[in-house]
Amino acid sequence: MTNEITLNIDGQEITVEPDTTLLDAAKQIGINIPTICWHEATTSYALCRICVVEVEGQRVLQPACIVKAGADMQVQTRSEKVVRARKTILEMLASTLDLSDAPEILTMMDEYGASPERFPEAERREIEIKDDNPMYLRDYSKCVLCWRCVQVCAEDAQYTYAINFSGRGFETEIGTFFDRTIPESTCVFCGQCVAVCPTGALKPKREFLLEQGISPEEITVMSSGRKQRKNKTNRKEREERKEKNKELS
Ligand code: SF4
Repeated sequence: MTNEITLNIDGQEITVEPDTTLLDAAKQIGINIPTICWHEATTSYALCRICVVEVEGQRVLQPACIVKAGADMQVQTRSEKVVRARKTILEMLASTLDLSDAPEILTMMDEYGASPERFPEAERREIEIKDDNPMYLRDYSKCVLCWRCVQVCAEDAQYTYAINFSGRGFETEIGTFFDRTIPESTCVFCGQCVAVCPTGALKPKREFLLEQGISPEEITVMSSGRKQRKNKTNRKEREERKEKNKELS
């Protein structure tokens, strides 16, 4: 085949198709590079940098999820520099966020010997849980800003644009436009954001309630009460609208 690219990853020679990322090339020879923001269903933007690798001749580490394989590249996926960078990223995340619901990241922390106590002065992101809709909760104290939820809500899947980044720097968080509640946004409750969230920052309400020790029976009662209240409100709104129309006619 023409245009194929041969490179070396961790001492193994591999030939790949043009436009193959270093992440995919490594995968083809069974080398696992850790990822957090990368997801097979979303566009990669190298936001988390956990997938960095060392490429001979490059001054800085390269994010494997977006950098394409090049002819004769010499790539190290676990050099000392790479391991140190990944460990630091994990420690920074753990020192500011609640990662208790992020099993993959916790496994990485064990693997890299990352110590959350490394940055004792770090300010923790403690944000109140947002419980504004019947389907899911948003706990941004657990959000690593991977952007996956925003991407599936937009061009990568749903084209709904209910959520996006808001704020800057440390204050950056995922939110709705004008900080409206989810029901007031364009959300269609497709659940794709919840499905791609790697940290439990977005969680189905039922799962959350079960974790709080509420029984499935109690949850059923709670949701039927909610439905009845909603129907009542809708009925009242319909009647008010009817009355208004009568007055106008
Ligand atoms: S809410 Fe979840 S999916 Fe969205 S940016 Fe935060 S961690 Fe990523």
